[in-house]
Amino acid sequence: MKANRLVLAGMSCWNKDCPDYGLADHGNIVKYGRTRKGTQRLKCTICEMVFVENRGTVFYGRHHSPREILECLAMLAERNSLASIHRIKGIKEETIMDWLCKAASHVEEIEALLLANYPLTRVQLDAMWTYVGHKGEKADAPKNLIGAASGEVLP
Ligand SMILES: [Zn+2]
Repeated sequence: MKANRLVLAGMSCWNKDCPDYGLADHGNIVKYGRTRKGTQRLKCTICEMVFVENRGTVFYGRHHSPREILECLAMLAERNSLASIHRIKGIKEETIMDWLCKAASHVEEIEALLLANYPLTRVQLDAMWTYVGHKGEKADAPKNLIGAASGEVLP
């Protein structure tokens, strides 16, 4: 797939190990197709990492880099236990579970990122979500009933 060469203003690379990490308007970020639901995917031409446009939702303001968080989620998907991820990455089990819980409300975005950056399968992703009792993309989030209820007239 050929990446669109259009450079995006204000976007910077998520990969801490990238020479262009955090440098906005540096010419390294190009559009890289869209996810199935239409979220813009982006790619860093320096380190080849793929990420998505609406970055703030899951990763913003955390101590660990988005790359590191993704890596732990990918390890979970590959059936590593929380204990072994802790041993390898030095990240607390609660912290990883917290990321996974947050990630579960952005399934589409997270799956797009994981699939773009790691050799994971659908089955592995589904297994990962079961840690938080979430079935992945197949299950819809509970419908918000407030809108429906507010317009209702009692008999
Ligand atoms: Zn990069």
